[in-house]
Amino acid sequence: MEYLKRTWAEISIPALQSNIRKIQSHLSNKSEIMGVIKADAYGHGVEVVAHTLCEMGIKYFAVSNLIEAIEVRKLCPDAEILILGYTPPENAQLLEMHNIIQAVISVNYAKILSASAGRTIRCHVKLDTGMGRIGLKNDTPEETAEEIEYISTLEHISVEGIFTHFAVADTDTPECNEYTQKQQEFIIKTAEIIKNDGLDLKHVHFMNSAAAISHTSDKSTLARTGIIMYGLLPNYPQQLNIKFEPVMSLYSTVAYVKTVPEGTSLSYGRTYTTDKERTIATITVGYADGYPRLLSNKGYVLIHGCKCPVLGRVCMDQIMVDVSNVDVTVKPNDIVTLIGKDGGQEITADELANLIGTIGYEIVCGITKRVPRIIKY
Ligand SMILES: *Cc1c(COP(=O)(O)O)cnc(C)c1O
Repeated sequence: MEYLKRTWAEISIPALQSNIRKIQSHLSNKSEIMGVIKADAYGHGVEVVAHTLCEMGIKYFAVSNLIEAIEVRKLCPDAEILILGYTPPENAQLLEMHNIIQAVISVNYAKILSASAGRTIRCHVKLDTGMGRIGLKNDTPEETAEEIEYISTLEHISVEGIFTHFAVADTDTPECNEYTQKQQEFIIKTAEIIKNDGLDLKHVHFMNSAAAISHTSDKSTLARTGIIMYGLLPNYPQQLNIKFEPVMSLYSTVAYVKTVPEGTSLSYGRTYTTDKERTIATITVGYADGYPRLLSNKGYVLIHGCKCPVLGRVCMDQIMVDVSNVDVTVKPNDIVTLIGKDGGQEITADELANLIGTIGYEIVCGITKRVPRIIKY
């Protein structure tokens, strides 16, 4: 058995490659892609994504933590790997051993990290210019530059770069554009001061996916792109001026079909009762596969190219959908498209997310490990 055709995700390598080429041709030749492959490459499978990016000549990778970094190190021995988040200082030795670049998130963290390290740790200093999450936080670039220069004097810390993260680069309103502009000016000014003071910075970076497309700047030596590589939108339904192709599709199978009379309730809690005779298919996917329970009575799937609404509550391993309007007879073993294209229709992770007040990121990251990732070359 190659894999169980119950619920499975297909990962399209041509789509990933095409998205990356589009990003590359949009960026100035002063900015390189830093592939953001945290969280198992946004649920797509870090092994195949890292491998594809390496093959395409991408040298820079970003992950969320040390475990992910060590995994990527094994996949790409020559890559530059940045941990975007916190690493407990007790793991300093592992950073050195695996040649991982660590985000320095405060002056105090830098001191502790330096004290915990045996040899030099490569770092990019994170600036909080308005995200309010982690990073050096000051009113002026002068103060921030001074702190970075201090950090660079610590015995076991090598400051190779600085970076910041935008809060609203994905939202095209005058207020948000101005906020992003201010964040950008802050880090650029900080970098200028540091360079004038004689500290060499290999990297200054601030573009995420949204900024890489909508606030492209050749002052950002790296574009830390995540979501657009995977073909989703940073802020659905706001479209970008480049069209990307979703890399992940999600499929399942019809297990059971029945026609029931008016007044039949379906699933836990009896939240749905048929208003007339309807034909119902039971599908082998549920919230334990990452198909959100919030899609109860809201989601829809594609069967034979027709939209079929989810009826009643999403269960752990199964859902019921209405197939009354499908032109052909629906039978057990028919393929069900949960995310992807079928006939002329398409369901994207962004659309599903939007139905339940979340983002496509959360849908793809939430597909659980019970779901095999089938790689399509
Ligand atoms: C996750 C993350 C990114 C990538 O964001 P996308 O919107 O997926 O491009 C970039 N930078 C940081 C610091 C992140 O945490």
